[in-house]
Amino acid sequence: HNHIDHATPEKVQAAIAAGDTHAHVPEYEGLEAYRAEGGYDVLSRLREGGDFETVQQELLDAGLRGLGGAGFPSGRKWGFVRAEPGPRYLAVNGDEGEPGTFKDRFYLERQPHVFLEGMLIAAWAVEAETCFIYMRDEYPAVLDILRREIAALERAGIVEPGYIELRRGAGAYICGEESAMIESIEGKRGLPRHRPPFVAQVGIFNRPTLVNNIETLYWVARVLREGGEILSGVEKNGRKGLRSYSVSGRVKNPGVHLLSAGSTITDIIEAAGGMADGHRFKAYQPGGPSSGLLPASMNDIPLDFDTLQPHGTFIGSAAVVVLSDRDSAKQAALNMLRFFEDESCGQCTPCRVGCEKAVKLMQADSWDQPLLEELCQAMGDASICGLGQAAPNPIRLTMKHFPDEI
Ligand code: SF4
Repeated sequence: HNHIDHATPEKVQAAIAAGDTHAHVPEYEGLEAYRAEGGYDVLSRLREGGDFETVQQELLDAGLRGLGGAGFPSGRKWGFVRAEPGPRYLAVNGDEGEPGTFKDRFYLERQPHVFLEGMLIAAWAVEAETCFIYMRDEYPAVLDILRREIAALERAGIVEPGYIELRRGAGAYICGEESAMIESIEGKRGLPRHRPPFVAQVGIFNRPTLVNNIETLYWVARVLREGGEILSGVEKNGRKGLRSYSVSGRVKNPGVHLLSAGSTITDIIEAAGGMADGHRFKAYQPGGPSSGLLPASMNDIPLDFDTLQPHGTFIGSAAVVVLSDRDSAKQAALNMLRFFEDESCGQCTPCRVGCEKAVKLMQADSWDQPLLEELCQAMGDASICGLGQAAPNPIRLTMKHFPDEI
C-alpha cells in the first residue's frame, strides 16, 4: 500500500473499496513551518561565508556515513568531489529500491525540508551547478511533496528556478546503483559503469559528481543545526551513532525504528513490539536481500557498518526482515535470487547467467552445494557491480546456517 500513508489497515481497505487509489499526501512540515523554527538558517549562514573545512570536520566528528548502504564517511566524500575541477554536480539517490527499505520515504513524508536543506548544504559544499534528485516513482506522495516544496523554495528565493531537477526513476532496482543512476539521469539505459574512474571524478555528463542518499542529507542538516553529538553522543555495544532500521516481517509493529547503531536483532525486534502472535523468531535479513539470512542464534551482533563483514554479510541500508518458524529459509533465499535474476541489468555474463543458473539449482529438492559454491565464486569475482557481487550472499549464508533445509 505504498500510495496510502499513515493508514490503518481499515483506512486502506475503505479507500480501496471507495476506488480511491491515488496518492494520499500525508500531513508534513511545509516550508513556512520549517523556517519558523530556524530552518534554512544554517544554509544562509554558510552561503554568507561559511568555511568548508569547518563543516567537513563537523560531519567527520559526528561520524556521519553514507546511509544508502555503503557507509563511506560523508565529509571525506565531499572533500574528494570538491577537490575536482568544476563544474560539479550533485545527485541525490532517492531510488530506495532495496526490498524492505523505506526509511527515506519515512523522512520525506514527514520533514522534506530537513532533507532539502541538507541537500542544499551539500550543494554549497561542492559548489554544485545543479542538484538532481533521482526519486523512486513508486512513491507518488513523495513526488507530490517534492514538486510542491521545490516550487516553494523557488518562490521564496532560496534557490534559482531550475536549480533543483526532480527526476523520476522507473522501477529498475539497478538504477539505485550510483553509476547506473547517473546513466539514467543522462537519459540512457541504467547500466552500471566500470570503476575507476569513480563518479566523484567522472559522474553526470562526465563531470565530478557528489552522490548522496536522502537520509544522509537529512542527517547533514540535523548535525549542522543540532550539533554532531546527536550522533556521536549515542553509544552502545562499542558502536556510535544512530540507525534508521526499516523493520518488516513477523513483528508486531513493522516500520522505521530509529535506534542506536549498536543495536542487535534482539533490540530491534523488541523495538518493533516483539514477534507477531504465534510466531517464533527463526532468522533475519540484516540489510536487504543482498545481505542474505542469518539465524536467530546470531542475535548478539550489533547491526552496524563493519560489524557484519566477519560473518560474510553487511548492514547495507538496514532493511531488517524478520522470519519466523513458519518461514522457510530455503524459499526465502530462492526468492532473493529470483529478484536478482529479474533485476540484473544483463550487462555482464557472471551476473546475468549466474543468477539464472542459481535459481535453477536452488529450485532442486536438495542443493548441489559444490556447484553452487563454484557459481558463487565466479559471480563474486567477475561481476561488474554490487548486484552480481552480492547475489551469492543469500546462497552461501543459507548453505552455512540452514543446512537442514537444503
Ligand atoms: Fe548488470 Fe549484474 Fe553486471 Fe551489475 S553485476 S552490471 S547488474 S549484469
